[in-house]
Amino acid sequence: MIKVPFNKPYTSGQESVYIEECIKTGQISGNGPYTQRVQEFMENKFACSKILLTTSCTAALEMAALLIELQPGDEVIMPSFTFVSTANAVLLRGARPVFADIEPGTLNINPTEIEKKINPRTRAVIVVHYAGAACNMDEIMRIAGENDLKVIEDAAQAVNARYRDKYLGTIGDIGCYSFHATKNYTCGEGGAILINCLEQDLIQKAEFIWEKGTNRSSYLKGKVNKYEWVSVGSSYLPSEILAAFLQAQLKQLDVISGMREKIYRYYLDNLKDFAAEGLIKLPVIPQYAKSNYHIFYILFNTEDDREYVRNYLNNQGIEAVFHYLPLHTSPMGRKLGYCKGDLEVTEQAGSTLLRLPLYPHLTVYEQDYILENLRAALQEVSG
Ligand SMILES: *Cc1c(COP(=O)(O)O)cnc(C)c1O
Repeated sequence: MIKVPFNKPYTSGQESVYIEECIKTGQISGNGPYTQRVQEFMENKFACSKILLTTSCTAALEMAALLIELQPGDEVIMPSFTFVSTANAVLLRGARPVFADIEPGTLNINPTEIEKKINPRTRAVIVVHYAGAACNMDEIMRIAGENDLKVIEDAAQAVNARYRDKYLGTIGDIGCYSFHATKNYTCGEGGAILINCLEQDLIQKAEFIWEKGTNRSSYLKGKVNKYEWVSVGSSYLPSEILAAFLQAQLKQLDVISGMREKIYRYYLDNLKDFAAEGLIKLPVIPQYAKSNYHIFYILFNTEDDREYVRNYLNNQGIEAVFHYLPLHTSPMGRKLGYCKGDLEVTEQAGSTLLRLPLYPHLTVYEQDYILENLRAALQEVSG
Protein backbone atom coordinates (compact mmCIF):
# COMPACT_ATOMS: atom_id res chain seq x y z
CA MET A 1 0.00 0.00 0.00
CA ILE A 2 1.21 3.49 -0.76
CA LYS A 3 -0.06 6.72 0.75
CA VAL A 4 -1.42 9.35 -1.63
CA PRO A 5 -2.34 12.63 0.06
CA PHE A 6 -5.17 14.74 -1.31
CA ASN A 7 -2.92 17.72 -1.93
CA LYS A 8 0.76 18.61 -1.90
CA PRO A 9 1.51 22.31 -2.45
CA TYR A 10 3.84 22.92 -5.38
CA THR A 11 7.05 24.86 -4.73
CA SER A 12 9.53 26.02 -7.35
CA GLY A 13 12.53 26.40 -5.03
CA GLN A 14 12.71 30.18 -5.60
CA GLU A 15 10.34 30.88 -2.69
CA SER A 16 13.09 30.77 -0.06
CA VAL A 17 15.43 32.87 -2.22
CA TYR A 18 12.89 35.70 -2.48
CA ILE A 19 11.96 35.46 1.21
CA GLU A 20 15.66 35.63 2.10
CA GLU A 21 15.84 38.91 0.16
CA CYS A 22 12.96 40.37 2.20
CA ILE A 23 14.72 39.43 5.39
CA LYS A 24 18.03 40.93 4.21
CA THR A 25 16.46 44.22 3.14
CA GLY A 26 14.24 44.36 6.22
CA GLN A 27 11.14 44.95 4.07
CA ILE A 28 8.76 42.50 5.64
CA SER A 29 5.54 44.47 6.26
CA GLY A 30 2.96 44.86 3.48
CA ASN A 31 2.63 46.87 0.25
CA GLY A 32 6.37 46.85 -0.48
CA PRO A 33 8.35 45.95 -3.64
CA TYR A 34 7.26 42.29 -3.86
CA THR A 35 3.60 43.22 -3.40
CA GLN A 36 3.95 45.85 -6.16
CA ARG A 37 5.71 43.41 -8.49
CA VAL A 38 3.18 40.64 -7.98
CA GLN A 39 0.22 43.01 -8.42
CA GLU A 40 1.68 44.47 -11.63
CA PHE A 41 2.49 41.03 -12.98
CA MET A 42 -1.10 39.89 -12.48
CA GLU A 43 -2.57 43.16 -13.80
CA ASN A 44 -0.62 42.66 -17.05
CA LYS A 45 -1.11 38.93 -17.40
CA PHE A 46 -4.82 38.92 -16.60
CA ALA A 47 -5.58 42.35 -18.16
CA CYS A 48 -7.12 43.93 -15.09
CA SER A 49 -7.06 47.62 -14.16
CA LYS A 50 -6.32 47.10 -10.45
CA ILE A 51 -5.31 44.12 -8.32
CA LEU A 52 -4.57 44.32 -4.59
CA LEU A 53 -3.09 41.39 -2.68
CA THR A 54 -5.06 40.35 0.39
CA THR A 55 -4.47 37.96 3.27
CA SER A 56 -7.06 35.53 1.83
CA CYS A 57 -9.92 35.21 -0.60
CA THR A 58 -12.15 35.47 2.45
CA ALA A 59 -10.66 38.94 3.07
CA ALA A 60 -11.10 39.86 -0.61
CA LEU A 61 -14.79 38.87 -0.46
CA GLU A 62 -15.23 40.96 2.71
CA MET A 63 -13.61 43.93 0.96
CA ALA A 64 -15.94 43.42 -2.00
CA ALA A 65 -18.98 43.52 0.28
CA LEU A 66 -17.69 46.76 1.86
CA LEU A 67 -16.91 48.24 -1.56
CA ILE A 68 -20.41 47.77 -2.95
CA GLU A 69 -21.77 49.11 0.36
CA LEU A 70 -24.05 46.21 1.20
CA GLN A 71 -26.57 47.18 3.87
CA PRO A 72 -28.96 45.31 6.16
CA GLY A 73 -32.03 44.48 4.05
CA ASP A 74 -30.00 43.89 0.88
CA GLU A 75 -30.00 40.48 -0.76
CA VAL A 76 -27.15 38.82 -2.63
CA ILE A 77 -27.76 35.81 -4.89
CA MET A 78 -25.07 33.10 -4.78
CA PRO A 79 -24.71 29.33 -5.03
CA SER A 80 -25.14 27.19 -1.94
CA PHE A 81 -22.58 24.81 -3.44
CA THR A 82 -19.57 26.87 -2.30
CA PHE A 83 -17.20 27.54 0.58
CA VAL A 84 -18.59 29.39 3.62
CA SER A 85 -16.66 32.60 2.95
CA THR A 86 -18.87 33.50 -0.03
CA ALA A 87 -21.88 33.78 2.29
CA ASN A 88 -20.09 35.12 5.38
CA ALA A 89 -18.90 38.22 3.49
CA VAL A 90 -22.54 39.14 2.90
CA LEU A 91 -23.73 38.24 6.41
CA LEU A 92 -20.97 40.34 7.98
CA ARG A 93 -22.58 43.42 6.40
CA GLY A 94 -26.00 42.46 7.75
CA ALA A 95 -27.23 41.51 4.27
CA ARG A 96 -28.88 38.22 3.29
CA PRO A 97 -27.39 35.44 1.16
CA VAL A 98 -30.03 34.08 -1.23
CA PHE A 99 -29.06 30.67 -2.56
CA ALA A 100 -29.70 29.68 -6.17
CA ASP A 101 -29.31 26.18 -7.58
CA ILE A 102 -26.48 25.04 -9.85
CA GLU A 103 -26.31 23.41 -13.29
CA PRO A 104 -25.93 19.61 -13.20
CA GLY A 105 -23.06 19.57 -15.75
CA THR A 106 -20.63 22.19 -14.44
CA LEU A 107 -21.95 22.58 -10.87
CA ASN A 108 -21.83 26.34 -11.49
CA ILE A 109 -24.69 28.69 -10.60
CA ASN A 110 -27.61 28.35 -13.03
CA PRO A 111 -28.47 31.71 -14.69
CA THR A 112 -32.16 30.75 -14.93
CA GLU A 113 -32.21 30.12 -11.18
CA ILE A 114 -30.60 33.53 -10.58
CA GLU A 115 -33.42 35.23 -12.49
CA LYS A 116 -36.04 33.47 -10.34
CA LYS A 117 -34.54 34.90 -7.13
CA ILE A 118 -34.36 38.55 -8.18
CA ASN A 119 -36.58 41.02 -6.31
CA PRO A 120 -36.36 44.74 -5.41
CA ARG A 121 -34.01 43.99 -2.49
CA THR A 122 -31.46 42.17 -4.68
CA ARG A 123 -28.22 44.16 -4.92
CA ALA A 124 -25.66 41.74 -6.28
CA VAL A 125 -24.79 38.28 -7.54
CA ILE A 126 -21.71 36.38 -6.38
CA VAL A 127 -20.75 33.70 -8.88
CA VAL A 128 -18.31 30.90 -8.05
CA HIS A 129 -16.26 29.38 -10.86
CA TYR A 130 -16.32 25.86 -9.51
CA ALA A 131 -13.21 23.71 -10.04
CA GLY A 132 -11.68 26.44 -12.23
CA ALA A 133 -14.27 26.13 -15.04
CA ALA A 134 -16.08 29.36 -15.91
CA CYS A 135 -19.71 30.14 -15.16
CA ASN A 136 -21.88 31.17 -18.09
CA MET A 137 -20.71 34.79 -17.86
CA ASP A 138 -22.49 36.25 -20.92
CA GLU A 139 -25.85 35.17 -19.50
CA ILE A 140 -24.97 36.29 -15.97
CA MET A 141 -23.70 39.72 -17.10
CA ARG A 142 -26.83 40.20 -19.22
CA ILE A 143 -29.13 39.38 -16.28
CA ALA A 144 -27.12 41.64 -13.96
CA GLY A 145 -27.18 44.49 -16.50
CA GLU A 146 -30.94 44.26 -17.01
CA ASN A 147 -31.56 44.28 -13.25
CA ASP A 148 -28.87 46.76 -12.21
CA LEU A 149 -27.02 44.23 -10.04
CA LYS A 150 -23.33 44.19 -9.15
CA VAL A 151 -21.44 41.03 -10.10
CA ILE A 152 -18.71 39.70 -7.81
CA GLU A 153 -16.71 36.73 -9.04
CA ASP A 154 -15.55 34.35 -6.33
CA ALA A 155 -12.67 33.13 -8.49
CA ALA A 156 -10.89 31.54 -5.50
CA GLN A 157 -10.38 28.36 -7.54
CA ALA A 158 -10.05 30.02 -10.91
CA VAL A 159 -6.75 31.91 -11.07
CA ASN A 160 -5.35 31.68 -14.64
CA ALA A 161 -8.59 30.20 -16.04
CA ARG A 162 -10.67 31.92 -18.72
CA TYR A 163 -14.15 32.57 -20.01
CA ARG A 164 -13.63 32.86 -23.78
CA ASP A 165 -10.63 35.24 -24.05
CA LYS A 166 -11.08 36.87 -20.63
CA TYR A 167 -9.45 35.73 -17.42
CA LEU A 168 -11.84 34.81 -14.63
CA GLY A 169 -12.05 37.45 -11.95
CA THR A 170 -11.81 40.24 -14.54
CA ILE A 171 -15.36 40.04 -15.96
CA GLY A 172 -17.67 41.10 -13.10
CA ASP A 173 -17.37 44.40 -11.21
CA ILE A 174 -15.05 42.79 -8.66
CA GLY A 175 -13.10 39.51 -8.63
CA CYS A 176 -11.61 37.58 -5.71
CA TYR A 177 -8.69 35.12 -5.84
CA SER A 178 -7.33 32.66 -3.28
CA PHE A 179 -3.70 31.68 -2.75
CA HIS A 180 -4.47 29.22 0.04
CA ALA A 181 -2.23 26.14 0.22
CA THR A 182 -4.96 24.01 -1.36
CA LYS A 183 -5.27 26.21 -4.47
CA ASN A 184 -3.24 26.06 -7.72
CA TYR A 185 -0.94 28.98 -6.81
CA THR A 186 -0.22 29.61 -3.18
CA CYS A 187 1.61 31.49 -0.49
CA GLY A 188 0.08 29.43 2.33
CA GLU A 189 -2.69 31.89 3.14
CA GLY A 190 -3.34 34.67 0.65
CA GLY A 191 -5.66 36.20 -1.89
CA ALA A 192 -6.33 39.19 -4.12
CA ILE A 193 -9.14 41.54 -5.04
CA LEU A 194 -9.58 42.66 -8.65
CA ILE A 195 -11.30 45.96 -9.33
CA ASN A 196 -12.60 45.84 -12.88
CA CYS A 197 -14.76 48.86 -13.34
CA LEU A 198 -12.81 51.78 -14.64
CA GLU A 199 -14.23 54.19 -12.08
CA GLN A 200 -11.05 55.61 -10.52
CA ASP A 201 -13.18 56.23 -7.43
CA LEU A 202 -13.73 52.57 -6.76
CA ILE A 203 -10.02 51.79 -7.04
CA GLN A 204 -9.19 54.55 -4.57
CA LYS A 205 -11.96 53.40 -2.25
CA ALA A 206 -10.50 49.86 -2.38
CA GLU A 207 -7.03 51.15 -1.53
CA PHE A 208 -8.40 53.06 1.48
CA ILE A 209 -10.27 50.00 2.81
CA TRP A 210 -7.20 47.82 2.16
CA GLU A 211 -4.86 50.12 4.12
CA LYS A 212 -6.96 50.25 7.30
CA GLY A 213 -9.12 53.17 6.17
CA THR A 214 -6.12 55.42 5.50
CA ASN A 215 -4.71 57.00 2.36
CA ARG A 216 -1.30 55.42 2.95
CA SER A 217 -1.27 54.15 -0.67
CA SER A 218 -1.54 57.74 -1.93
CA TYR A 219 1.24 58.70 0.49
CA LEU A 220 3.52 55.92 -0.82
CA LYS A 221 2.89 57.18 -4.38
CA GLY A 222 3.89 60.68 -3.26
CA LYS A 223 0.41 62.08 -3.90
CA VAL A 224 -0.03 63.39 -0.32
CA ASN A 225 2.63 64.38 2.23
CA LYS A 226 1.09 62.59 5.21
CA TYR A 227 -1.41 59.83 5.54
CA GLU A 228 -4.55 59.96 7.59
CA TRP A 229 -7.84 58.29 8.39
CA VAL A 230 -10.16 58.79 5.40
CA SER A 231 -12.73 55.96 5.41
CA VAL A 232 -13.87 52.74 7.00
CA GLY A 233 -11.28 50.00 6.52
CA SER A 234 -9.34 47.16 8.01
CA SER A 235 -6.04 45.32 7.67
CA TYR A 236 -6.38 43.33 4.48
CA LEU A 237 -2.86 43.37 3.04
CA PRO A 238 -0.38 40.52 3.45
CA SER A 239 3.24 40.71 4.54
CA GLU A 240 6.01 41.06 1.93
CA ILE A 241 7.19 37.60 2.96
CA LEU A 242 3.98 36.14 1.55
CA ALA A 243 4.18 38.32 -1.57
CA ALA A 244 7.76 37.05 -2.11
CA PHE A 245 6.56 33.44 -1.84
CA LEU A 246 3.79 34.18 -4.32
CA GLN A 247 6.18 35.80 -6.79
CA ALA A 248 8.02 32.46 -7.07
CA GLN A 249 4.72 30.67 -7.73
CA LEU A 250 3.44 33.09 -10.34
CA LYS A 251 6.66 32.71 -12.34
CA GLN A 252 5.49 29.11 -12.89
CA LEU A 253 1.91 30.12 -13.74
CA ASP A 254 1.50 28.09 -16.93
CA VAL A 255 3.95 25.35 -15.93
CA ILE A 256 1.73 24.53 -12.95
CA SER A 257 -1.54 24.53 -14.93
CA GLY A 258 0.12 22.40 -17.63
CA MET A 259 1.16 19.79 -15.06
CA ARG A 260 -2.36 19.76 -13.63
CA GLU A 261 -3.96 19.46 -17.07
CA LYS A 262 -1.94 16.32 -17.82
CA ILE A 263 -3.14 14.66 -14.61
CA TYR A 264 -6.73 15.78 -15.18
CA ARG A 265 -6.78 14.35 -18.73
CA TYR A 266 -5.25 11.07 -17.58
CA TYR A 267 -8.11 10.66 -15.09
CA LEU A 268 -10.67 11.53 -17.80
CA ASP A 269 -9.21 9.10 -20.35
CA ASN A 270 -9.09 6.26 -17.86
CA LEU A 271 -12.58 6.78 -16.48
CA LYS A 272 -14.60 7.40 -19.64
CA ASP A 273 -15.62 3.74 -19.96
CA PHE A 274 -17.17 3.81 -16.48
CA ALA A 275 -18.99 7.00 -17.42
CA ALA A 276 -20.25 5.38 -20.65
CA GLU A 277 -21.62 2.50 -18.57
CA GLY A 278 -23.49 5.04 -16.43
CA LEU A 279 -21.63 4.13 -13.25
CA ILE A 280 -20.26 7.63 -12.70
CA LYS A 281 -20.48 11.10 -14.25
CA LEU A 282 -17.38 13.04 -15.22
CA PRO A 283 -16.85 16.81 -14.94
CA VAL A 284 -18.01 18.99 -17.82
CA ILE A 285 -15.93 21.91 -19.12
CA PRO A 286 -18.09 24.02 -21.46
CA GLN A 287 -16.77 25.24 -24.84
CA TYR A 288 -16.53 28.79 -23.50
CA ALA A 289 -14.29 27.79 -20.58
CA LYS A 290 -10.54 27.28 -20.42
CA SER A 291 -10.02 25.54 -17.09
CA ASN A 292 -7.02 25.77 -14.79
CA TYR A 293 -7.75 22.17 -13.70
CA HIS A 294 -8.16 23.00 -10.04
CA ILE A 295 -10.33 20.01 -9.09
CA PHE A 296 -10.96 16.58 -10.57
CA TYR A 297 -14.22 15.11 -9.33
CA ILE A 298 -16.55 12.27 -10.18
CA LEU A 299 -20.26 12.03 -9.41
CA PHE A 300 -21.89 8.77 -8.32
CA ASN A 301 -25.52 7.76 -8.73
CA THR A 302 -26.11 7.50 -5.00
CA GLU A 303 -24.56 8.67 -1.75
CA ASP A 304 -24.10 5.01 -0.71
CA ASP A 305 -21.99 4.33 -3.81
CA ARG A 306 -19.92 7.46 -3.14
CA GLU A 307 -19.35 6.50 0.49
CA TYR A 308 -18.46 2.93 -0.44
CA VAL A 309 -15.83 4.06 -2.95
CA ARG A 310 -14.52 6.81 -0.68
CA ASN A 311 -14.00 4.39 2.20
CA TYR A 312 -12.44 1.85 -0.14
CA LEU A 313 -9.92 4.41 -1.42
CA ASN A 314 -9.24 5.81 2.05
CA ASN A 315 -8.53 2.29 3.32
CA GLN A 316 -6.00 1.90 0.50
CA GLY A 317 -4.17 5.02 1.68
CA ILE A 318 -5.72 7.30 -0.96
CA GLU A 319 -7.06 10.54 0.40
CA ALA A 320 -10.20 11.08 -1.70
CA VAL A 321 -12.55 13.65 -0.19
CA PHE A 322 -15.99 15.14 -0.70
CA HIS A 323 -17.45 18.64 -0.50
CA TYR A 324 -19.50 20.82 -0.25
CA LEU A 325 -21.95 20.27 2.53
CA PRO A 326 -24.42 22.70 0.95
CA LEU A 327 -24.60 26.00 2.80
CA HIS A 328 -28.41 26.08 2.82
CA THR A 329 -28.71 22.76 4.72
CA SER A 330 -25.88 23.52 7.18
CA PRO A 331 -26.74 24.66 10.74
CA MET A 332 -26.15 28.31 9.77
CA GLY A 333 -28.19 27.97 6.58
CA ARG A 334 -31.08 26.50 8.55
CA LYS A 335 -30.89 29.44 10.98
CA LEU A 336 -31.38 31.67 7.95
CA GLY A 337 -34.57 29.77 7.14
CA TYR A 338 -33.43 27.41 4.41
CA CYS A 339 -34.06 23.68 4.47
CA LYS A 340 -33.35 20.37 2.80
CA GLY A 341 -35.26 20.06 -0.46
CA ASP A 342 -34.78 23.73 -1.44
CA LEU A 343 -32.03 23.11 -4.02
CA GLU A 344 -32.17 19.74 -5.71
CA VAL A 345 -29.06 19.79 -7.91
CA THR A 346 -26.91 21.25 -5.11
CA GLU A 347 -28.01 18.58 -2.64
CA GLN A 348 -27.42 15.81 -5.20
CA ALA A 349 -23.88 17.09 -5.90
CA GLY A 350 -23.13 17.46 -2.18
CA SER A 351 -24.04 13.86 -1.49
CA THR A 352 -22.57 12.13 -4.57
CA LEU A 353 -19.37 14.03 -5.45
CA LEU A 354 -15.90 12.64 -4.81
CA ARG A 355 -12.65 14.54 -5.38
CA LEU A 356 -9.51 12.65 -6.35
CA PRO A 357 -5.96 13.75 -5.51
CA LEU A 358 -4.72 16.34 -8.03
CA TYR A 359 -1.46 18.25 -7.63
CA PRO A 360 1.48 18.94 -9.96
CA HIS A 361 3.84 16.37 -8.50
CA LEU A 362 1.36 13.49 -8.42
CA THR A 363 3.32 10.76 -10.23
CA VAL A 364 2.01 8.45 -12.94
CA TYR A 365 2.77 5.59 -10.55
CA GLU A 366 0.53 7.16 -7.87
CA GLN A 367 -2.18 7.99 -10.37
CA ASP A 368 -2.18 4.42 -11.69
CA TYR A 369 -2.47 3.20 -8.10
CA ILE A 370 -5.51 5.47 -7.57
CA LEU A 371 -7.12 4.33 -10.83
CA GLU A 372 -6.47 0.66 -10.14
CA ASN A 373 -8.20 0.92 -6.75
CA LEU A 374 -10.99 3.06 -8.13
CA ARG A 375 -11.65 0.42 -10.82
CA ALA A 376 -11.76 -2.31 -8.21
CA ALA A 377 -14.15 -0.30 -6.02
CA LEU A 378 -16.41 0.56 -8.99
CA GLN A 379 -16.57 -3.09 -9.99
CA GLU A 380 -17.82 -3.94 -6.51
CA VAL A 381 -20.39 -1.14 -6.64
CA SER A 382 -21.71 -2.29 -10.02
CA GLY A 383 -21.63 -6.01 -9.16
C1 LIG B 1 -10.88 28.46 -1.10
C2 LIG B 1 -12.12 29.20 -1.35
C3 LIG B 1 -12.43 30.37 -0.63
C4 LIG B 1 -11.62 30.86 0.53
O1 LIG B 1 -10.30 31.15 0.20
P1 LIG B 1 -9.28 31.59 1.38
O2 LIG B 1 -8.15 32.18 0.61
O3 LIG B 1 -8.91 30.34 2.11
O4 LIG B 1 -9.97 32.57 2.24
C5 LIG B 1 -13.58 31.07 -0.97
N1 LIG B 1 -14.39 30.65 -1.95
C6 LIG B 1 -14.14 29.50 -2.64
C7 LIG B 1 -15.08 29.09 -3.73
C8 LIG B 1 -13.01 28.74 -2.34
O5 LIG B 1 -12.77 27.61 -3.02
